[in-house]
Amino acid sequence: MQESLSNTRSSNGTSNKGGAMNLIPMDQRDGWIWFDGELVEWKQAKIHVLTHGLHYASCVFEGQRAYKGVIYKLTEHSKRLKKSANILDFEIPYSVEQIDAACKLVLEKNGLIDAYMRPVAWCGSEEMGLAATNNKVHLAIAAWKWPSYFSAEERLKGAKLSWSEWCRPAPNMIPCFAKAAGLYMICTLAKHKAMKEGYTDALMLDYRGYVAEATGANVFFVKRREIHTPIADCFLDGITRQTIIQLAKKNGYKLVERHILPDELNEFDECFLTGSAAEITPVAQIGDINFKPGKACKEFIKLYAEEVQPKS
Ligand code: PMP
Repeated sequence: MQESLSNTRSSNGTSNKGGAMNLIPMDQRDGWIWFDGELVEWKQAKIHVLTHGLHYASCVFEGQRAYKGVIYKLTEHSKRLKKSANILDFEIPYSVEQIDAACKLVLEKNGLIDAYMRPVAWCGSEEMGLAATNNKVHLAIAAWKWPSYFSAEERLKGAKLSWSEWCRPAPNMIPCFAKAAGLYMICTLAKHKAMKEGYTDALMLDYRGYVAEATGANVFFVKRREIHTPIADCFLDGITRQTIIQLAKKNGYKLVERHILPDELNEFDECFLTGSAAEITPVAQIGDINFKPGKACKEFIKLYAEEVQPKS
């Protein structure tokens, strides 16, 4: 959901010219972007067309949110960014502490309190062959206002998901535990098709036919006080997913991580998606299966909203 929910919100990313809400393109905004150790003006944060990351997807990124001026689970995100780069066989030339500090600086310099943040690391333009061992590794960090896409009531109407024709590949087919740009090709394609058909997003199966995740968010199913979620053995074990697993256990739910077949979904009463951007997004429909966002969705929206508040 995360990447898919972007750019439709009237925050600092839109203008209201002639009454119609117009999107300000991502490269045309005002503010500061941290770029290889320096804060540069937003519109000047550019790269060359012959960038390895652009051609061959030697690129990893993060998506995290700040709530009331504090970035939720910042260090976990910075660690995951470094780990994703290592999985793609490159090293980000900054420590986790330096990335954390840079993220905080970006938030402060842009005067943001509640924001979405996008650290991104990629191999540069020294050489154009497939090997990137001589290419410089770059890091940039941007942040912008991106409030929850839906109000609580709107959210509870639930997202409509189609079934994606694209499947999550096996761990020996793609570096599936990295938050790597290349993994999002099939997510974008699945999302486009879903939107064309009037859905909010798509649910993807994995290479074995088990339920995997949405295009940018993990999925949970609820049956009374039991919560079932797919084992993250070929897709991103989201930081929000891990938080929800802990919250569920703490709040008296039985949490079951298992392989789930699409045919089993009829058994569940509720379903929701989780992600740093999507937060808790109730689901009303997957293909021709309907869910009624209810008590559990409300409870997890509330628990997560409390969880992300800065602790004094
Ligand atoms: N799966 C995919 C494919 C994602 O893009 C995201 C968002 N980063 C997630 C799951 C959820 O991860 P997290 O909770 O760490 O944001």
